[in-house]
Amino acid sequence: MAKILIIGAGGVGSVVAHKCAELSQTFTDITLASRTKSKCDAIAESVKQRYGVQIKTAAIDADDVAATVALLKQLKPSLLINVALPYQDLPLMDACLEAGIHYLDTANYEPPNEAKFEYHWQWAYQDKFKSAGLKALLGSGFDPGVTNVFTAWALKHHFDEIHYLDIVDVNGGDHGQAFATNFNPEINIREVTAPCRHWEDGAFRETEAMSVSQKFDCPEGVGSYSIYRMYHEEMESLTKHIPTIKKAQFWMSFSENYIKHLEVLQNIGMTRIDEVEYNGQKVIPLQFLKAVLPDPGDLGKTTTGRTCIGCIIRGIKDGEEKAIYIYNICDHEECFAEVGSQGVSYTTGVPAMIGAKLMLEGKWTTEAGVWNMEQNDPDPFMEDLNKYGLPWKLVELTTEQAKNLSVI
Ligand code: NDP
Repeated sequence: MAKILIIGAGGVGSVVAHKCAELSQTFTDITLASRTKSKCDAIAESVKQRYGVQIKTAAIDADDVAATVALLKQLKPSLLINVALPYQDLPLMDACLEAGIHYLDTANYEPPNEAKFEYHWQWAYQDKFKSAGLKALLGSGFDPGVTNVFTAWALKHHFDEIHYLDIVDVNGGDHGQAFATNFNPEINIREVTAPCRHWEDGAFRETEAMSVSQKFDCPEGVGSYSIYRMYHEEMESLTKHIPTIKKAQFWMSFSENYIKHLEVLQNIGMTRIDEVEYNGQKVIPLQFLKAVLPDPGDLGKTTTGRTCIGCIIRGIKDGEEKAIYIYNICDHEECFAEVGSQGVSYTTGVPAMIGAKLMLEGKWTTEAGVWNMEQNDPDPFMEDLNKYGLPWKLVELTTEQAKNLSVI
């Protein structure tokens, strides 16, 4: 039915390639391109072995708009799936505009020299995409992505108004390494060390990074974890599109071991994103650190345990207060057995495939323009999560439980 180009052959790109190949009736012609072609070839080999599907590969530097336009004009895909890094969002949107191709990504644009996770750069493309008759779907991963869809679905089926939203992302996995991040280390560390912002009474309030934490008991025996409040990009679009939200917070679990290593790395300047001079060469410490840390794409074979990501939502239905928790639990070892990747790449790659599928089927982004996830009908996405590897559950909570993030 459709030809696609996936850009980015990291942990997430690998899952997207595998899951799209699994749906070979929808994604009839797949090309995987990235800076390092050998990574694409290794993924293509695994796809061939698992699904008997041959995908094509190519080398591309996505920062080079002219080169990407040339590749797009040569391949003529229906859709570009961007699972490279957030820095590539704008060059790839520019290339899509020039070549006349629809666009999807999983993370919002970030300027390389500032740890700013904001949508305004991409929202500024609204008129250009509309007048070109093209569609862009932003943030089709898990968080952002599925968390936006959970919230939109809750509003559609369970609330007249949503007032409080807590997104809780627990990775109860153990990768067996002294220190590793479960997605791109540079992006992960920039996110975690940035000042915390949460939405309250009409504005984002800033607090010191990692300064607010609490215990969270996951359902289904996933375990009890320390979760830390931090900024996450979906709060920006969700509070814009669901303006009744009075307070929105994002929480992520980190082990004591992760925090200890991160503190040391920060104290000695290794998480800096400005250039330093070393032996006559300009080096960005965080990029150097990324080069020596384990590659998240390689963690699958040693990772055990489960992820548990969901939304605790409070609001009003028929004049009464109501609270629910919607969540997915994903097993790292099962993901590895299925597609050769750990759960964090899997929970991002599957929603990217579903977003692409719904765009190609004409069920999502029905009009031209730049869209966030919650602006689309959540129902077909929720159905596909159950079908393609990320089943979800709903639990009714008391108001007190929701206030205390106490879901079991
Ligand atoms: P990785 O670092 O594992 O992979 C990134 C890939 O992008 C690599 O293959 C890299 O190529 C490629 N790349 C980087 N720069 C360029 C460029 N200029 N041109 C072409 N290719 C390039 O990252 P992940 O797979 O972990 O993450 C991918 C994306 O998914 C990121 O944007 C991340 O923020 C997002 N994400 C979203 C989540 C969500 O839930 N929404 C959760 C986790 C991740 P090479 O290796 O050759 O340098």
